[in-house]
Amino acid sequence: MALTRRFQRLPRLGIAVGLTAIIGAGAVALQNGRKLGYDDTPFLPGGKWRVHDGARPQPRIIDPGTSSTPDTPGRPPSDAVVLFDGKDLSHWTTDGNAPPRWKVEQGYMEIARPGGTLVSKEEFGDCQLHLEFATPNPPVGVDQGRGNSGVLLMGRYEVQILDSYENQTYPDGQCAALYAQYPPLVNASRKPGEWQTYDIIFTAPRFDGDQLVSPAYQTIFHNGVLVHNHTALIGAMTHRALAKYTPHPPKGPLALQDHGNPIRFRNIWVRELKGYDEP
Ligand code: MG
Repeated sequence: MALTRRFQRLPRLGIAVGLTAIIGAGAVALQNGRKLGYDDTPFLPGGKWRVHDGARPQPRIIDPGTSSTPDTPGRPPSDAVVLFDGKDLSHWTTDGNAPPRWKVEQGYMEIARPGGTLVSKEEFGDCQLHLEFATPNPPVGVDQGRGNSGVLLMGRYEVQILDSYENQTYPDGQCAALYAQYPPLVNASRKPGEWQTYDIIFTAPRFDGDQLVSPAYQTIFHNGVLVHNHTALIGAMTHRALAKYTPHPPKGPLALQDHGNPIRFRNIWVRELKGYDEP
């Protein structure tokens, strides 16, 4: 890339065009003979790229997919790992290595009896997660007994799923709570039976041996509404205890909790997150 930038700074455009052709498609300083950006600007922190540096890698092009409607699940972005597309449970397991026993019908899956928590075969660290769920209609039970499930990042960090439409419980246990830690900023729940969305940006915790170097962070949109804004987790999910961290590998599976209620899920996908300028 340093080579490319040197060419970009050649004063005679014609020479640079020829050299671009020789060094191949990786040269981004010129686009159809058009010079990109600037080469007389200050360096950004880190000293690798200048402000408006035309040689900086172009972001990957993806198909962004489509949003869901109440009746129709959307289409995932083209670079997502699709964990459930409405057809089968091939990306999931339960109880160790047993095949999942959940029902799949009409484009969704539903916790069945006997059930068991669903665990993804793929593992993830930093990621963007999209999933859709619907709590039972008509609703059954009250408090934590109504439409309870949950999505656990790395199998440990739970975002609560609950029917919180006209159903109060302790705030750090309601729908979209970081269970036992933080209530959502607002209750954006839809009615029982209606499809709801979670869009979660998860940063995995970092460990150095037994030491926590940086905590996990969650930014969460519930039905498109921000309910957690880069919130640092206190630790892994607990019940009636203070959360704490226990060191674990850099990647872990997604888990969907079986809490005994027939929750439905559809359109589940994950994008692994990379840094800037990473291909
Ligand atoms: Mg739960």
